[in-house]
Amino acid sequence: ATAIRLDGVCRRYRDGDRTVTALDAVDLRIPVGRFTAVMGPSGSGKSTLLHCASGLDTPTSGTIRIGDTEITGMRETARTRLRRERVGFVFQSYNLMPSLTIGDNITLPLRLADRRPDHAWLHDLIGHVGLRGLLNRRPSELSGGQQQRAALARALVARPDVVFADEPTGALDLRTAAEVLDLFGRMVSELGQTIVMVTHDPVAAARADVTVVMSDGRIADTLARPSAERLAH
Ligand code: ADP
Ligand code: ADP
Repeated sequence: ATAIRLDGVCRRYRDGDRTVTALDAVDLRIPVGRFTAVMGPSGSGKSTLLHCASGLDTPTSGTIRIGDTEITGMRETARTRLRRERVGFVFQSYNLMPSLTIGDNITLPLRLADRRPDHAWLHDLIGHVGLRGLLNRRPSELSGGQQQRAALARALVARPDVVFADEPTGALDLRTAAEVLDLFGRMVSELGQTIVMVTHDPVAAARADVTVVMSDGRIADTLARPSAERLAH
């Protein structure tokens, strides 16, 4: 099954009297349960790809499907609802709400979507991300790695079809980054989660199943992780 599919996606920006082509006829198919990294130089279109694929932004032309649902052509309100129900986000700066406890941060997407927590799943999820005993703390009382693990739990709590991560290890030291990447890998291998991660870090990209390399708004290359390394995981 395909989690996300882009066909001929173009995104142009008007910049004064100039037009910038941030995405230039991108075709991309991401199967369910795959961990995909997106790399490429600054300005190559990575963020635009992430924003279009997740329904935060609308392409100028082309079609985008999340699962069987075509999101291009949807009204803003429908797209926002779909995003809340089916997409999770992880940011470089964690973006946890400072005034909420870790527990309330993690369950926030359920409240926004007016959904009840599935307590068995919540219990498992907290175990997976290793935050048992920390749910009553505030974000400022946690380390960077713990905050990013809480952000991943928040992204997963509504069981989204896909999690989009924008430089999730950018603010972490090497060892903490490796721990967070291990967790991403386990969410893929154990839960079958689909993850798309924009990163500048080759070490982070090496953990993904596939790396998509962007250049000038196009996909310049698609690199599969060597199968020997995949077997060792
Ligand atoms: P990356 O994430 O790889 O750094 P972006 O997707 O942010 O690349 O940007 C791709 C291109 O689109 C760049 O040339 C950038 O300057 C341009 N761009 C991105 N957002 C806007 C915007 N809101 N207005 C005008 N140009 C933009
Ligand atoms: P909210 O619930 O705050 O209205 P949305 O439903 O619009 O947020 O967006 C869903 C997720 O996308 C939220 O986690 C929000 O932080 C994130 N988000 C919203 N706008 C942007 C943006 N321009 N760039 C990156 N992430 C965004």
